[in-house]
Amino acid sequence: MPPNNGEFAMKPNYLHIWPRNTFMMIALPNLDKTFTCTLFMPFEDFEKITTGDKVIEFFQNYFPDAIPLIGVDALKRDYFRLPAQAMVSVKCSPYHIDDKCVLMGDAAHAVVPFYGQGMNAGFEDCIVFDEILDQLNEDVGAVLPEFSKVRVPDDHAIADLAMYNYVEMRAHVNSRWFLFRKHVDTLLHLIMPKTIIPLYTMVTFTRTRYHKAVERWHWQEKVINRGLAFGAAGAACGGVYLLIKHPPNISKIVIPAEQIWSMLLAPQSP
Ligand SMILES: Cc1cc2nc3c(=O)[nH]c(=O)nc-3n(C[C@H](O)[C@H](O)[C@H](O)COP(=O)(O)OP(=O)(O)OC[C@H]3O[C@@H](n4cnc5c(N)ncnc54)[C@H](O)[C@@H]3O)c2cc1C
Repeated sequence: MPPNNGEFAMKPNYLHIWPRNTFMMIALPNLDKTFTCTLFMPFEDFEKITTGDKVIEFFQNYFPDAIPLIGVDALKRDYFRLPAQAMVSVKCSPYHIDDKCVLMGDAAHAVVPFYGQGMNAGFEDCIVFDEILDQLNEDVGAVLPEFSKVRVPDDHAIADLAMYNYVEMRAHVNSRWFLFRKHVDTLLHLIMPKTIIPLYTMVTFTRTRYHKAVERWHWQEKVINRGLAFGAAGAACGGVYLLIKHPPNISKIVIPAEQIWSMLLAPQSP
């Protein structure tokens, strides 16, 4: 997506997502004020788009607002410049062979890019390895198995989280309940910053181990959902109690049909 009058065509400090439930497009800003747009979609859907006109038809159906930003000619041309490619997710265990070699980074755990944690997980491998070297007095024969033992559950957890985040980005964000729950999480985090920590915050801004973050997230989900269910049930019971205790005067609530009719006509009267 080219710049517009020398400026970014959309707000640059955001991850732009067009969530369409079974697929999505994202746009990430570049230093030259362009955006790179990436379409994540099942192969069978890519295979249906074989000509420039089909690209435009597809975008008109699903991303109409992106067409003027990218430009019809550029869209027809650029769409076919890079063929659709498979994404890779690697889970292996252990990461070492005796005291001879150890895998770190993508070689050990290439993950799909939806949590933005691939490089971070690789950097954290290095930190953890360094910590274990210190703890075990640089005894490589002990350090390598310990590294596998400590790191495999975390790297497997981030691989699963990255997969999960694809569903969250392409589908869950379309759900009002999901958005409501996000607001509840943020509010509870403001009130109890040490007790409730949103998953994204734990993963991205803390050194909470990935697999511990997942465990804590499941616990928080259970507690918050139960709290909301109890709150809703309490509010419903309270409402029923109040209605029984102080029944409303129905005759005052019921509005005669003629009155409704005159209310409807009123705004049209000069
Ligand atoms: C689209 C996309 C978006 C991403 N976004 C993010 C993000 O927002 N945040 C984040 O943290 N991560 C992100 N990542 C992941 C991140 O880029 C990778 O996790 C990271 O680059 C992995 O680093 P690495 O050093 O382990 O492996 P690599 O970067 O793959 O480095 C391996 C190197 O080894 C070289 N090599 C391979 N074989 C040989 C050989 N036989 N001899 C010598 N050299 C060899 C390769 O050429 C390469 O230079 C993203 C990845 C993708 C694809």
